[in-house]
Amino acid sequence: MAENKRDYYEVLGVNKGASAEEIKKAYRKAAMKYHPDRNPGDKEAEAKFKEVGEAYEVLSDDGKRSRYDQFGFAGVDPNYGAGAGGYGGGGFGGGFGGFGDFGDIFSEFFGGGGSARGAARENAPRRGENIMTSLELTFEEAAFGCEKEVATPRIENCSACSGSGSADGVIETCSQCRGTGQVRTVQNFMGMQMQSTAPCPACSGRGKIIKNPCITCKGKGKVRRTNKVKVKIPAGVDAGQSVRVRAEGSVGVNGGPNGDLLVEVYIKRHPIFQRDDRDVLCEVPISFTQAALGAKILVPTLDGKIEYEIPEGTQTGKEFVLREKGIPEVNNPRRRGNHRFTVVVETPTKLTKEQKELLRQLDETLVQAETPKIKKFFDNLKDFFD
Ligand SMILES: [Zn+2]
Ligand SMILES: [Zn+2]
Repeated sequence: MAENKRDYYEVLGVNKGASAEEIKKAYRKAAMKYHPDRNPGDKEAEAKFKEVGEAYEVLSDDGKRSRYDQFGFAGVDPNYGAGAGGYGGGGFGGGFGGFGDFGDIFSEFFGGGGSARGAARENAPRRGENIMTSLELTFEEAAFGCEKEVATPRIENCSACSGSGSADGVIETCSQCRGTGQVRTVQNFMGMQMQSTAPCPACSGRGKIIKNPCITCKGKGKVRRTNKVKVKIPAGVDAGQSVRVRAEGSVGVNGGPNGDLLVEVYIKRHPIFQRDDRDVLCEVPISFTQAALGAKILVPTLDGKIEYEIPEGTQTGKEFVLREKGIPEVNNPRRRGNHRFTVVVETPTKLTKEQKELLRQLDETLVQAETPKIKKFFDNLKDFFD
């Protein structure tokens, strides 16, 4: 059986590093596609349906997934855990264990409103949710990094009851499910008697009963609170990138780890600078005379003004490059992009009579000067009209 099996990740079309959410999504999509109700009598679809179910069964379970990653199929022997809460229907799939999440999908197909949703995992440790927020930075803050405080709502343990949900600390084990949080049910699925598990109705799958719930959190053990966090923004971060702050998301469930905080970065417009990846761009206006004669000009950069000598005969629109005066690389801040500036020749306006006269005199002398573009233009023009 084992030799013809396809890799579980391949079956679901996800990569090895896929998150639980990605795996779930991929599974749902595939299960919907190959579901026997949609493909009546199609043996191939049925086989695919079994295959994705089995892949999901393993990859959705952290323990099984890590055994599979380490040992391949041998690590997740199909008979593994068959006796414990699996279904004994003998239909598709064989006897692989713990069908908790299949219930999830079934309830979606049958509109059952989550009959067995997460039954097996209701009282298992789960990671808290990631929290997303955004932050607007100035151009310089993004370029050089900074520390910012963000305030985001998240789920935390209730401080009044230390997260237990009980006002007096008394928590009893549910007698109906003996603390497992699950009860077995028998369902009829496509003519097959299927035994599956559902969350215990007496304790909503928690396995515990709180007689005297905490008033602050109404027995949930969790409250929503605004969390203020200092976020270190690395130098070189660009718009649309997110900075991850570990464990500053919502608190985990049943002792699971906290989620992360993800801070997406926006960058305010800068009056002078623009950004092109790690290069900084800007325009520097120069006078007609500076362009003609050459000049030392002051160029604004992230490091302050830098003196730069433009050569005589500089044309408008010419770009100059100041090496390594741009934005640092996020992972290697000693490496920086370039500062690229473009000179723009500004034509003088509102000249006095005397200035105009001087320019006319100048113009007459310019016949001998090199103006290759003008010459070429008139040459072309002549060819065009001849
Ligand atoms: Zn509480
Ligand atoms: Zn119970």
